[in-house]
Amino acid sequence: MSVLLFFIDGLGIGARGPQNPLDGLDDAEPLPIFRDEERKTILDGIVVPTDARLGIEGRPQSASGQTTILTGVNVPATLGYHKQGFPNSAMLEILREHSIFLQLKRAGIEPTTFANTYTQKFFDERPRWVSATTAAVEAAGLSFRTVSDLKAGKAVYQDFTNAVLIERGEEVGPRSAEEAASVLARIVSQNRFTLYEYFITDKVGHAQDMQAARTVLRNLARMIRGMLAGIDLRRTSVILTSDHGNIEDLSSRNHTLNAVPTIVWGANKDRIASRIETLADITPAIVEALTEKAAAHK
Ligand SMILES: [Zn+2]
Repeated sequence: MSVLLFFIDGLGIGARGPQNPLDGLDDAEPLPIFRDEERKTILDGIVVPTDARLGIEGRPQSASGQTTILTGVNVPATLGYHKQGFPNSAMLEILREHSIFLQLKRAGIEPTTFANTYTQKFFDERPRWVSATTAAVEAAGLSFRTVSDLKAGKAVYQDFTNAVLIERGEEVGPRSAEEAASVLARIVSQNRFTLYEYFITDKVGHAQDMQAARTVLRNLARMIRGMLAGIDLRRTSVILTSDHGNIEDLSSRNHTLNAVPTIVWGANKDRIASRIETLADITPAIVEALTEKAAAHK
């Protein structure tokens, strides 16, 4: 049994309408998911509307949402607020104790990995504040994938087309959605747990750029379809989720209060889907799927 957690920043379940770039985007399966519409998605994926507000007033934000997803601790309820950007010291403390990578390591589930690429600049000029995932990976003492790994077909950049890397002067070639999908699928086949993160959706949502949003969502859907086609779904569970809504409503530049879509494919999908209600359920569902002996026989 293995699990892929595919994280998409800023993707909520919105209403249909001209504000929603997913409305009318017929070639963007499995992503067109709308409020109050029950739907099945490709390859019998189960869509679970997932609460990102976590019982605390205000708009859900990235640092608190991502820390919650990666630890199973309801961070807004624990600290009393949502926090944008990067985790503060209280959140870093939670990550250092409860990181999903650390929980799996303690349970003897190895190897685990973060599929994303870090540039040399990150190591040379370590930023003062780091993402929830960077902290979660470091908590378990795992190594990061580099641009050399990417060139060797062993890492995927968060913008999997490599466009952002090329803009920053890295000497890498562009990648199609399908090429990136097959690299990710290979990483998944070599690990018990793989995390992949994609952030362009949140960026485009803040920019309220309809044209860019539709292009990005189509391309992201191609990547997801390619990834699902390359993975052995009989022995792998694929869980897609997000930290808060944003791109599904371009009438506002803010995050939304919408639920986010968690989509579960493959092994144990019913069981995993049935125990997810909020972002705090993602890590426990993964740890449970990978540690329960019964799961291996299902
Ligand atoms: Zn944002």
